[in-house]
Amino acid sequence: MTKRDYYEVLGVSKHATPDEIKRAYRRLAKKYHPDVNKEDPGAEEKFKELAEAYEVLSDPTKRARYDQLGHEGVNFGGRGFTWQDFTHAGDFDDIFGDLGGFFSQFFGGFGRERGTRRRARGRDLKVNLEITLEEAAFGAEREITFKRREICSECNGSGAKSESDIKTCPSCGGTGELRRVSSMGGFGQFVQVATCSTCNGEGKIVTALCPACDGRGRISIEKRLNVTIPPGIDSGIQLRVRGEGELGEGGAGDLYVTIYVTSHDLFERSGRDIIFELPVSFVQASLGAEVEVPTLDGRDTISIPPGTQHDTIFRLKGKGLPDMRSKRRGDELVRVRIVIPDKLTSKQKELLRAFEEEGDKSSKKGILGKVINEVKEII
Ligand SMILES: [Zn+2]
Ligand SMILES: [Zn+2]
Repeated sequence: MTKRDYYEVLGVSKHATPDEIKRAYRRLAKKYHPDVNKEDPGAEEKFKELAEAYEVLSDPTKRARYDQLGHEGVNFGGRGFTWQDFTHAGDFDDIFGDLGGFFSQFFGGFGRERGTRRRARGRDLKVNLEITLEEAAFGAEREITFKRREICSECNGSGAKSESDIKTCPSCGGTGELRRVSSMGGFGQFVQVATCSTCNGEGKIVTALCPACDGRGRISIEKRLNVTIPPGIDSGIQLRVRGEGELGEGGAGDLYVTIYVTSHDLFERSGRDIIFELPVSFVQASLGAEVEVPTLDGRDTISIPPGTQHDTIFRLKGKGLPDMRSKRRGDELVRVRIVIPDKLTSKQKELLRAFEEEGDKSSKKGILGKVINEVKEII
């Protein structure tokens, strides 16, 4: 059987971003979910094909190998893709969470740790973190604070003021269910089972609320956490801190820290490069000069050759930001801005007029002369 191109399987372009790939996968995996396609015998195979494509394209190393070598580059140890190779089931709880039975056909107990009743992982949390360009360039340790709901330590999550304030629900007698037996005339009886609304199916009620959490069992606390910012990071990148999200019965969610790099007084960022606008007097630009320029690492000197024009760019190799993976640094681009003085002494004016007259002799037919002639014609 010839294998289909992974990009084609997910319906994305070769240049798709990780986010686009994830979205495409989520959409298609839901569509071909074996539980909603019980009549379509091809759906399971399709579902697995999607997982294989996602497994490869979501991993930068595997994706690079695939781009370079095709399916040969990623043949899963030579035996082809099996469900054991799929590492993302936990990322798509909404898709895989209830597929325990489906997976147990393929290998023992995919849903093992989830137990018979699915225990939900805690919610993921998101925080934003502003960092400076220097921190983005060289990396940093930053303390972040965020709010997280945790189990109330006063009542251990029960929501009750004390142990003795937890009572068996009088409506259901502790079963959490209400049964109603109805007669169906000659057809006998049938039993309707509903969740007890008094205790919400818990079987217990709380008669006095824990004052610390108002009976909620959870309390919002301010958490402090150190995060390591890798060199080369850019705005919009999310750092994932595993297990620092909210707690759930099935474990803690993750914390996502979205990075925002604040704008810098001197430098503008362009990917790995930074741009610095260097003010140069027109005398320096005309005669040439040695000029000091700031860099992310300190200072550097560049020599401006005589006759340098406005917008000329000088490149300081390796003075930009590092690439997050390769660590290779970009460059600093120094762009010349020629500054025209707006205040002149009478002596300077005199010198400039003399300069202009001297220049006129050599460039009567120069650009300026031409412009003036054209203006005269229009008038
Ligand atoms: Zn009850
Ligand atoms: Zn409490």
